[in-house]
Amino acid sequence: MNLILLGPPGCGKGTQAKRLQETHGIVQLSTGDMLREEVGSGSDLGAQAKEIMESGGLVSDDIIISMISKRIDQEDCQAGFILDGFPRTMPQAEALNDMLDEKGLRIDHVLEIEVDDSAVVKRITGRYTCDDCGVGYHDEFKTPAVDGVCDGCGGTSFSRRADDNEETVRERLNAYNQQTAPISEYYRAKGALAGVDGMAAIDDVSNQLNEIVGSNRG
Ligand code: AMP
Repeated sequence: MNLILLGPPGCGKGTQAKRLQETHGIVQLSTGDMLREEVGSGSDLGAQAKEIMESGGLVSDDIIISMISKRIDQEDCQAGFILDGFPRTMPQAEALNDMLDEKGLRIDHVLEIEVDDSAVVKRITGRYTCDDCGVGYHDEFKTPAVDGVCDGCGGTSFSRRADDNEETVRERLNAYNQQTAPISEYYRAKGALAGVDGMAAIDDVSNQLNEIVGSNRG
C-alpha cells in the first residue's frame, strides 16, 4: 500500500506517518528527514539545502524528485511507502505521477490532515525530540513525566529543529499556502483525496486515518 500524507507544517504528518509505518508495515519517506540527514552528513546537497531550509523556502524540485525516485527503488519500499512532505509543488506532483507510471506503481490513498494556521505556529515552536530515540515532545502539550528525561529511553539530551522558530514557521506556512495547498485541489479533482480532522487528539487522528486505509491493512 502506497500513501501520500498532505497537510501544513506542524499538522502531525511526521507523527502519524510513524504510526502508519508501524501499523501497516510500510516505510515513512520524509523528504524533510532525508534533507536533514544530508545537512548533518555535510554533503554538497546538504550544504545547498541548509540555507533554504533555514529560511523556510523550498529546495529545488529536481533535487527532491531525484532523491525520492532513488529512495522508492530501495528494497524496503517494496511492501509500500508513506510520502511525508512530498509532493510539495505542482511540478513535484506531476513528476510523481510519471515516476510511478514508469515504475509500475500507484498511490492507494491521498490523506490530508487539516489544522488551523494559528495552531500550527504554537505546535511547531514548542516541539523538540529526544536525541537518542527520536520521540517527540512539546513544551506545553506533551512534556516528559520526569523533567529532562525521555519517557521512551531515559535519554537526557534533546534537540529542536533549526527551522522551528516563529519567523521561519511563518515563511514555511507561506510556502505551503502558495505552493503546496493547490496539490490538495489537484488530488481532490481526481477524486483521490480524503481529509481528516488534525485538531483532534493524536490517537483520534490515527483512528481516522486507519479507518480510511483500513481495508488495505497488511
Ligand atoms: P519538513 O520536515 O517536511 O517540515 O521539511 C523541512 C524543510 O525541508 C522544508 O521547509 C523545505 O525547506 C525542505 N523540504 C522538505 N520536503 C521538501 C519538498 N518536497 N520540496 C521542497 N523542499 C522540501
